[in-house]
Order: sequence, then C-alpha cells, then structure tokens
Amino acid sequence: MKLKIRLLYLVSACLLLPAARAQLRVTTTTTDLAALVREIGGEHVEVVSLSRPLQDAHYLDATPGMVVRIGRSDLFVENGFELEMGWVPEVIRETRNRSVRPGGDGHVDASHGIQAIQIPERTHRDMGDVHPSGNPHYTLEPVVAQQAARNIAAGLIRVDEKNADTYKSNLDAYIARSDEVVAKWKEKFAPHANTGVIIYHKHFDYMLKSLGLNIVDAVEPLPGIAPSARHVAQLISTYDTDSVRMVIIEPWHDLRVGKQVADAIGVPLLVLCPTVGSCDGTDDVIALFETNARKILDVLEAEAGE
Ligand SMILES: [Zn+2]
Repeated sequence: MKLKIRLLYLVSACLLLPAARAQLRVTTTTTDLAALVREIGGEHVEVVSLSRPLQDAHYLDATPGMVVRIGRSDLFVENGFELEMGWVPEVIRETRNRSVRPGGDGHVDASHGIQAIQIPERTHRDMGDVHPSGNPHYTLEPVVAQQAARNIAAGLIRVDEKNADTYKSNLDAYIARSDEVVAKWKEKFAPHANTGVIIYHKHFDYMLKSLGLNIVDAVEPLPGIAPSARHVAQLISTYDTDSVRMVIIEPWHDLRVGKQVADAIGVPLLVLCPTVGSCDGTDDVIALFETNARKILDVLEAEAGE
C-alpha cells in the first residue's frame, strides 16, 4: 500500500514537473532586445518581441494584444531613450500587471546607464523629432549594448534568482564575445578611418562611429522629419565623391529619395539591415553588426579596387 502511494506520488510529481520547470515569459519591444534576452536567459526564457524585424519601433501603435501579452509577462524589456514613446506608455497604462511597470521588479529599461550620443541641445519634440533624448539605437553596436545586456541580466535575476549563476555566466560570455568581434571589425576598418558617409535616419550611428567612419550629414533634417526638396538640394550641392563615399539607409525609409541623393553625389546607396531578423544571418545583435559591417566594407573595398 505504501509503495502504491509512493508510486502515485512519483507519477503526479512527474506530471507536475513541466509546470515547475516552466520558462520565464519575457516580452520586449524590439527583436534586438529579444535577442539579448535569449543570449542571457538561454533555455530559461520564452521571449516575444512586440515589433517585427521590419517594423520601425518609433512608429508602432498600441494594441490590445500587446496589453494582454505584457499582462502575462514575468519581465518586460523596453529600449528606452524614448524610442517607444508613441506606444509603450499606453500599453503600460492599460496593463494590470504592476510588476512590469517602471519601478516594478519585472520592468527593465535597457538603456539605463548607457551614455546616449547626439543629445540635442534644444529638444525639437514638438516639431516631431523622434530622438529627443539622444540617439536610441544603441543595440546596433554590440559593445555599447553590453550595458543593456547587464540591465537584462539584473532583471532576470530579480524575477528568477535561482538561475542567477546561469544569467551571470551568459552575460560574461556575451561581453567577451562582443568585445572580440567589435575589436576585429575595428581593425578591418582602420584603413578607412574618417571615411565620410551620409545616413538617411540616425539609425546606425553607434556602429558607424565605432568603426571610425565620419557621419557627415543626414537626409532627414531631424530624426523622423521627412526631407524637403530644399534640404535634398542642399545635400547634393554640399557633398561630392571626395567628402562622401556612400549613402546609408534602412529599408523602411524612402529609398527613392535616398537614391536621388546618392546618384546626384555619385556614390552608392547602401541598404543595411536595421534590426535582428531583418536579413538572413542576423539572428542576434553580434551577427547583425557583422552583417552590416561586412556590407559597408564590401563597398569601401570595391571602390578602393577600382
Ligand atoms: Zn531613430
């Protein structure tokens, strides 16, 4: 009889096991942050990004589905620096899950502790500037993103302390790998130091600066503001093939205007991969960086070979 009870206990314990081993439910605003969460959380997390790879996270709309998803989440990770100012505050306001609101154990502002570049002297928020707190696209440069990875690790440890050792060692591994990869590409770019590039939106700036390139201008007069014909004409009359080697754009911006500027200056228009998952082989932030760095270097080396 005793054995029977013990067996029953064993069987029910086995049935309960999956629940006891359930993964943490993590929601992020972008696929880049989701990749960092997977990097640090490994098998302990199930992560969903609220934006898809080819969606510009500046311009999402809050939906009831987002409210439901973060309501069921153990951890919510947002990019910060006001990248998601148009939609995340509304989603957070609607959720009943207090933990994932700012200040709660389940909330991570991944930008915490990062020094933003391009902080405007005067904010042009009222004119539609979508970078009022400085450039929010720090995940494009894996070493800058190390601080985001630290913030994510701290968040995972807050809500799941028993796996703290795993999160810490995954964080260490990420830091070591990103240091190594970025150093390798800096070396490859050394012969091209200070090469001038024009960007469409200030999206890749952390990466371009890290690689030693010189961002001489942007097609958008302010981040998020479409260029006027006058601004385009000004770019074309100011720059030439000596001062600029390429125009860089994300696929969700106006490729026609990008091409117009590039053609008039006489340089190539290069479409880069803006987020994790937006191109083949961009499954994490380090692979994304390497893919984009390779594309830029191919253009520079092709030109050098002419
Ligand atoms: Zn932006």
